[in-house]
Amino acid sequence: MDNLRRQYLKAMGIPVWVRRDQPAQAAPVAPEAVAEQMPGSSVVAAEAQETSRLDWPALGERVASCTGCELHRTRIQTVFGTGNPQAQWMVVGEAPGADEDRQGEPFVGRAGQLLNAMLRAVGLAREQVYIANILKCRPPRNRDPRPEEVSCCEGYLHRQVELIRPRIILAVGRIAAHNLLKTDVSLGRMRGQCYRYSDTDIPVVVTYHPAYLLRSPGEKRKAWEDLRFAARICAEGG
Ligand code: SF4
Repeated sequence: MDNLRRQYLKAMGIPVWVRRDQPAQAAPVAPEAVAEQMPGSSVVAAEAQETSRLDWPALGERVASCTGCELHRTRIQTVFGTGNPQAQWMVVGEAPGADEDRQGEPFVGRAGQLLNAMLRAVGLAREQVYIANILKCRPPRNRDPRPEEVSCCEGYLHRQVELIRPRIILAVGRIAAHNLLKTDVSLGRMRGQCYRYSDTDIPVVVTYHPAYLLRSPGEKRKAWEDLRFAARICAEGG
């Protein structure tokens, strides 16, 4: 393990032990990817069709002025997404929180810093990936997104995925995983599996949300394993 990686693992709060009798080995990774086709996203058909024809600037404008669900009443601003539109990795979270609502960018604050450290640990700068959420507006008091809100908003994320065509999607947190993959399987059981996003062949790997990891630092090592698993799938071409 090189020094740089060791530094990032340290930044994530993961203790690193190196056996003295042999070189450091890769942590065990999950078995071969299990492709699992999941049902597609559901959006109102006419709006979905229209959204699916938008280019980046038009999509950004559409989201910025969206009043499609009740969340537009309480937001400060929409949080479209950030990063490289040609990214190989796409990170998808749940919804903006208070900091994101204020700054207009996903994953800022302490959770954002931890996400950056997690990405660095697998050799990725934040600017290299694309980061977005299931919902583009903050739910009041950070409550869970409601099904009708997801239904109304997910066409935007779907179009972002279509435009980026990432080699892998990392779903961070239970809400993101459930809504991306249309399942209610527990996050713990979804870890270490390779799913497919909607009707595409884009692999999806799930891991814990950085906000959860801040509350449960003992789980950081599992997140590290998930990231390595995702990196392996990405390197193998899905
Ligand atoms: S959450 Fe999505 S659908 Fe609802 S107002 Fe915001 S951008 Fe529109």
